[in-house]
Amino acid sequence: MNIIKIDFPEDQYIKKEYLDKKWICLHHTGSSNAKQDIAWWKQTPDKIATPFIIDRDGSIYQLFDTKYFAWHLGLKDFNSILNEQYNAESIGIEIVNLGVLTDSQVATKKFEYITKDFRSGKHWQKYTDKQYNSLNDLINYLLKLYPKIGKTVITKEDFDLTVFKIPCIYSHRNVHREKTDVSPAFEFNKINIV
Ligand SMILES: [Zn+2]
Repeated sequence: MNIIKIDFPEDQYIKKEYLDKKWICLHHTGSSNAKQDIAWWKQTPDKIATPFIIDRDGSIYQLFDTKYFAWHLGLKDFNSILNEQYNAESIGIEIVNLGVLTDSQVATKKFEYITKDFRSGKHWQKYTDKQYNSLNDLINYLLKLYPKIGKTVITKEDFDLTVFKIPCIYSHRNVHREKTDVSPAFEFNKINIV
């Protein structure tokens, strides 16, 4: 597995060590390439980022060491201590994907997508096989580094904060009522944990 290290400003994440990771949180970016997101994360004052982002071509970029964290969950249901713990002990992986497609984007026929009503959306861009391959490599690598996370993958779409009751791999949509990542186009049967 090839991980491309990005020169990411130290003041754009939180250099406080959390060595006891319990979760992986899957996200998608709502964008079409990783460069856009990295550029935005470099300048947003809110210290929003994830340590990893997987581009459409499967390239894996790493912005900071996994022992540190940045804000990536936008949780609304917890006090500040739990909020920090869940953000810091969940390793965020962003997958580059537009997410919901507008009717005019669908009409261009430029995008592979599926159709399913989910929260605010209907048409969802598909993720690429190169992304699934890289995501599998990355998840298996992280599970070796942090074996406590374990192999439980939450596949349901529902908002359900009980995902924080056990170590697992969950999606942003499970812990945030408005977020739609990862989308209904995400194919959990392509996740292969060894
Ligand atoms: Zn997200």
